[in-house]
Amino acid sequence: MHSWIRPLAAGLFCSVWATSLAAQGQTNPLDPANLDTTCAPCKDFFRFANGGWLRRNEIPGDLPRWGSFNELQEQNYAALQQVLTESARNAPTARDPNMKKLGTFYGTCMDSTAVEAAGITPLKGELDQIAAIENRRGVETALARLHRHGIPAAFAFGSKPDAKRSTRTIAEVYQAGLGMPDRDYYTKTDSASEKTRQEYVQHVSRMLQLAGQDSALAAGSAGAIMRLETALAHASMTREEQRDPESLYHLTTTAGLQKMAPGFAWSGYWSQLGLEGIKEANVAQPKFLGTVDSLLASAPLADWKAYLRWNLIANTAPALSSPFVKESFRFNSTVLRGVSEMRPRWKRCLASSDQALGEILGQAYVRKNFTPEAKARALEMVRNIRSELKSRLSGLTWMSQETKTKAYAKLETIINKIGYPDTWRDYSRLEARPGPFVTNLLLANEFEARRDFNKIARPTDRAEWGMTPPTVNASYNPLYNAISFPAGIMQPPFFDPKADDAVNYGGMGAVIGHEITHGFDDEGRQFDSQGNLSGWWTDADTKEFNRRADVVEKQFDGYVAIDSLHVNGKLTLGENIADLGGLLISYGAYRRSLAGKPQPRRIDGLTGDQRFFLAWAQIWRTKARPEFTRLLVNVDPHAPPEFRTVGPLSNIPAFAKAFGCKPGDPMVRPETQRAQIW
Ligand SMILES: [Zn+2]
Repeated sequence: MHSWIRPLAAGLFCSVWATSLAAQGQTNPLDPANLDTTCAPCKDFFRFANGGWLRRNEIPGDLPRWGSFNELQEQNYAALQQVLTESARNAPTARDPNMKKLGTFYGTCMDSTAVEAAGITPLKGELDQIAAIENRRGVETALARLHRHGIPAAFAFGSKPDAKRSTRTIAEVYQAGLGMPDRDYYTKTDSASEKTRQEYVQHVSRMLQLAGQDSALAAGSAGAIMRLETALAHASMTREEQRDPESLYHLTTTAGLQKMAPGFAWSGYWSQLGLEGIKEANVAQPKFLGTVDSLLASAPLADWKAYLRWNLIANTAPALSSPFVKESFRFNSTVLRGVSEMRPRWKRCLASSDQALGEILGQAYVRKNFTPEAKARALEMVRNIRSELKSRLSGLTWMSQETKTKAYAKLETIINKIGYPDTWRDYSRLEARPGPFVTNLLLANEFEARRDFNKIARPTDRAEWGMTPPTVNASYNPLYNAISFPAGIMQPPFFDPKADDAVNYGGMGAVIGHEITHGFDDEGRQFDSQGNLSGWWTDADTKEFNRRADVVEKQFDGYVAIDSLHVNGKLTLGENIADLGGLLISYGAYRRSLAGKPQPRRIDGLTGDQRFFLAWAQIWRTKARPEFTRLLVNVDPHAPPEFRTVGPLSNIPAFAKAFGCKPGDPMVRPETQRAQIW
């Protein structure tokens, strides 16, 4: 389901880097061995800052990429493995119901003997129901059943704050239902995309054979599934189009919904979902919903039954016996991401546990890994960075006083979420059984979907967290006007209580600045201090903002990610604006923090300013497989890490000054071509 939440980096896929300096207790927040001093900083700062690290590190066989986010995630995994192993061992006699559920869930996932013995049998009841479908109404009922289990077949349904009245939460229908990562995988005509589609059809066919169909029937079904998904893809909005919040807002009464999809029995759907009294919903893409409705009428019933079967199997395959796990891995990890080795079972089970029971696991994590001191220090940085943005806003010559006053109000009302939630999620209605594992997975999905549906037609809870505490990421949510920094990211190299200020401001500080400026990027700026989509900017200010944002867009369009594939400047615009703004604000806050103090001493021969910019570059040290880079360029609103490093810095005169770069150097853009927003 599409979300307005803007994480700092794309989803992480993650091996143990046991020799981290922090783990050895020798904090050196900027290890000189990570630099490549044979590469001039003014020529390619990414390689200057990270060349040593890039030479020493290889991508582990079970990951599509390797970088500082992954290093931290692997450390977090190592910390959590013990918690989970103990909870699984103690589950039969545990008195704490939450720990019993966590232990049961993880334990059944780790019980490979039971998982192998069960095969696909636990899904038999569901598959039989699909087989018995006789007409369109039966397909709709099955779609509702899948939605109740968190599987977004044909379209996604869930809750979201009303974008124009964000204090209340409403229902939303959103485009979905594709088995590949994006609509473009179905619509592009280049030979690589053609080849991926052929691989996909074979993959669908193999999975259906594993589930019991003979090869001719499975091949026929796979072709039908591809036809349905292709029709859905053509009706879907592109990722760039989805960056326009107004175009996704179509608040509709249930009568209006019936007009958009006249053949669909909505009342039956609501009652399947336990939402009989529902009065309205936002339909993000009315055209897409219309296509679903007409496909339900026009495509053969057998095709829809194949599609339903496929959705159930594809979404549960990682929890089934090894033939399903291996085939799912072959396509999704090897073909799409270039990964040759499967993650060890415990890491896969840990990821599932974090997803299903993240706020139980998270409590154990923060007890061990997060201190009140870290929280206080982070809050202090947030305060300093926020006041720096305020002073930068007031100094802008291109923004009117009218818009500025509202921008200050928005800045003042930002909610700070640091470490973990104040109130933990209630899991009392979640059930975990002795096995088999796929049953627990479906129960957890059902619990989560129910929790989500229960928010509909209720006041919005802005204190809710969208990320679990061990997550190595950060985010901004424009509907809540809230920034979140889970405990998992508040570690070196992002944040190190023992490090000098330059390093913390260049790392965590710039990340905080990044998230705060999301409230003012091309999307976020359209939401006001209360999280409502409203035109609070003057027309002249909007025009000037867009003119300045265009400069950023064109700069990133110019970068080549791999072969001849360019970065998509429009898709990555919000993130690139946030990187540039975040760095400038954090740099300003760092300089301000030095007022009245002696200049920071050089460390390893590096000045404070140099360390600030090196800290930024080192959080982005990353190596990625070419297949994965291709996938991300298509779907990820973040530019590849190399360009997140050099892109913003090439616009910052303080960077050029810190390293003595001259006009004409690749890391220095001429003043007339510089991006300047904040
Ligand atoms: Zn971001």
